[in-house]
Amino acid sequence: MPSPGAIAPLHARLAAALGQQRLLVSPDALLAWECDGFTVHKSRPGAVVLAETTEHVQTALRILNDAKVPFVPRGAGTCLSGGPTAGADAVVIDCARMRRVLHVSTEDLYAVVQPGVVNLDLTTAVTCHGLHYAPDPSSQSVCTIGGNLAENSGGPHCFKYGMTRDHILGALVVLPDGSLARLGSPAGSRAPQGLDVAGLFCGSEGTFGIATEITVRLSRNAQEVRTLLAAFADMGAACRSVGDILAAGLVPAALEILDQATIRAVEASVYRAGYPEDAAAVLLVELDGAREVVAEDALEVREMFARNGALRIEEAADAAERKRLWKGRKGAFGAMGRINTDLYVLDGVVPRTRLEQALAGIAAIGEKHGMLITNVFHAGDGNLHPNISFDGRDAEQTRRTVAAGHEILQLCVDLGGSISGEHGIGSEKLDHVPMMFDAADLDVMARVRAVFDPDGRCNPGKVLPNRSACAEVAKWPQMIAKVLDVEGPR
Ligand SMILES: Cc1cc2nc3c(=O)[nH]c(=O)nc-3n(C[C@H](O)[C@H](O)[C@H](O)COP(=O)(O)OP(=O)(O)OC[C@H]3O[C@@H](n4cnc5c(N)ncnc54)[C@H](O)[C@@H]3O)c2cc1C
Repeated sequence: MPSPGAIAPLHARLAAALGQQRLLVSPDALLAWECDGFTVHKSRPGAVVLAETTEHVQTALRILNDAKVPFVPRGAGTCLSGGPTAGADAVVIDCARMRRVLHVSTEDLYAVVQPGVVNLDLTTAVTCHGLHYAPDPSSQSVCTIGGNLAENSGGPHCFKYGMTRDHILGALVVLPDGSLARLGSPAGSRAPQGLDVAGLFCGSEGTFGIATEITVRLSRNAQEVRTLLAAFADMGAACRSVGDILAAGLVPAALEILDQATIRAVEASVYRAGYPEDAAAVLLVELDGAREVVAEDALEVREMFARNGALRIEEAADAAERKRLWKGRKGAFGAMGRINTDLYVLDGVVPRTRLEQALAGIAAIGEKHGMLITNVFHAGDGNLHPNISFDGRDAEQTRRTVAAGHEILQLCVDLGGSISGEHGIGSEKLDHVPMMFDAADLDVMARVRAVFDPDGRCNPGKVLPNRSACAEVAKWPQMIAKVLDVEGPR
């Protein structure tokens, strides 16, 4: 890989081809691109290209290909695993300005969008047709469809409706040499044609190329939606209610739990939702479908809440109340800003039946390291988000945070789960990957990646521990290794 100095000679060529206004190179301007939501890993890129069209992306990648300079795709930068963070020897290709909805088919139920379209803006654009885009990360008011595609993002309603992968029909992709490839099905078609390469691209975390047009499935709004909240005096009762609901064969659209520390942070913040602060846990259940069925299901759920000793049961009477109940859940990570300057949002999965055990283990790890760990999670999927509040200016606190995070992910794996449910590997989890995959598994992934990116210049140093290439980014796993006193990336 070239040294950081390799980018400066390209400034004039990039500016001439793209326009000076689409190129950022001054250290001050680059500050805003030094990290994503994983603030433990910071590194300023060598330059940023503000792309607005497929042609801009192609032009930039051709120039970078000539000089064999690495690059990193970026959307809104809300990733929580360091995915869009670039080293000084790499150029960020920022797609956030590519925010046009290019086409909507209300009959064939799909939309073609540029990658910088904000998730919620797509739903807003089709609401008047009684449609929505189903995957709804809690960051949906900011994050982009391009980032969602790259991360195979989830969200509260993915329990019933599936992750991003289930809603992607195809994509136009600029490959690392600047050439174009159309992946997936013709718009409107449901089944992948031939190999499901669009499915492969989904979740590749920006390591295969840059998606510049994305065809997504749209969903019809349900006839009826009911949102219920139950507050419990202990977390076990909330988790048992989730188990009871699923054992009864009900399939709610969402099943979300917040613990007491999260409830209190939410209630003290601008995301205040009226959650009972004395509760040990709050469970949000959303049911949707045909009116009569949802009414029956809601009665059944209420009975289960009561049997598990709910302190309080509430149901949204209208859309405004539903919005209020969701406001607290969707704003929970933001509310953590009240607790400390930084937040490490972990993302691990355990089998649903092990939720209580996992939460007890997480509390013990927090105690051992003297760190406050709060929990808000997609209970239906067993997808935990333990949140470690810390002061990133304090090296010792940061060290303990990283160490606690490592132990929590090992706990998830030991309980039969995994190291990521939806936030990806990025640079954050390079050192955790071997908890799940051996050399042969990783070799298959590396070979697939090389088909798209033979030079290893597309988002180097991410996802695969043995493919580190970008000097700055590669420092991160070594730092973890030092913190944990374990071997660096293999
Ligand atoms: C408050 C908060 C709540 C969140 N809640 C959820 C949640 O409920 N569920 C969930 O899954 N995630 C959640 N996230 C994580 C994050 O929002 C998602 O991963 C999201 O998809 C990232 O989108 P982005 O536009 O910010 O992408 P970025 O952060 O900019 O980039 C993410 C990755 O995508 C790649 N990329 C970006 N654009 C492209 C492109 N056009 N082509 C190819 N690769 C590209 C980047 O290289 C990077 O690896 C949350 C984050 C925050 C801060």
